[in-house]
Amino acid sequence: MIETIFSHDQIDYSVSPQHCIGNSNGSCRFCFTSSPKFKNRSHSIPEFLGNKTVFTLDECDECNKLFGNGIEKSLKNFLMPGWFYRAKGKNGRPTEYAAGGVSIFADDIFINITFPRGIPKTNETLEFISKEVNTLKSYKALLKILISLLPNEFLLEFTDALHWLRSGHNFSLLTHKPIAFIGNQIPDQRLPIIMAVTLQRQVIEGGAMYVLDMRFNNIYIMFPFSTSTMTAHFRLGGGTPADAKYEEVNFSLVDFSTAPKKRKFKLSLNLPDLSTNECSQDPDYS
Ligand SMILES: [Zn+2]
Repeated sequence: MIETIFSHDQIDYSVSPQHCIGNSNGSCRFCFTSSPKFKNRSHSIPEFLGNKTVFTLDECDECNKLFGNGIEKSLKNFLMPGWFYRAKGKNGRPTEYAAGGVSIFADDIFINITFPRGIPKTNETLEFISKEVNTLKSYKALLKILISLLPNEFLLEFTDALHWLRSGHNFSLLTHKPIAFIGNQIPDQRLPIIMAVTLQRQVIEGGAMYVLDMRFNNIYIMFPFSTSTMTAHFRLGGGTPADAKYEEVNFSLVDFSTAPKKRKFKLSLNLPDLSTNECSQDPDYS
């Protein structure tokens, strides 16, 4: 039996309707502190991904700070550069830099590229190289999102996973491979500005398998997790077939235990050759 235990869509960064998980009358769901401070409202899904509407009420201020400065930053470095999916974070959208000091800024309609050295070359390739990526922390950030979205009744199944999440242990303690499907669409203004998140739970022999499906504009993350099985399940055929080329999603399977520690991303530009438009100093009238 497959049960949808969380589902939420946010369109155009609208701040309503909100979806709040847990309650702030008891202990923290992550560290179990019995008298925690819940002064700050915790985003269940990191704000840099554009989340304006989903909050976990029983994540304490300490855990919020710890996760925000630690694993969530790693996830940001692990994913595509921010201009690619153009999510509006806490301070709007950042300007990012490619090699050679080229700056890039994208909004819902345009990608703006500024060359510091005058006229760009034709067929210029911009290279984005991320800082060192901690793949263990990136994976933990996805697990943290899943646990943030859990209705209280399922938290007990995650006791071991919570200890692992907060520990310095590596992947060897997991029961299945640390994998996810990561997909992307080429940025296109015809695509919706959307955050769509679904969490499903499937009862299997000896426990349950959870699958977290997330879409942030044009990037997709399908994250399976279980504390009781060696096989990670994916539900196939969940997406609607693309009607047009721009709607096509390219998925790849990522194993976080073997994924590269640096992310390289290249953007090839096919620029018009501006030199041919220049007036010749020595016209040939022959
Ligand atoms: Zn806590």
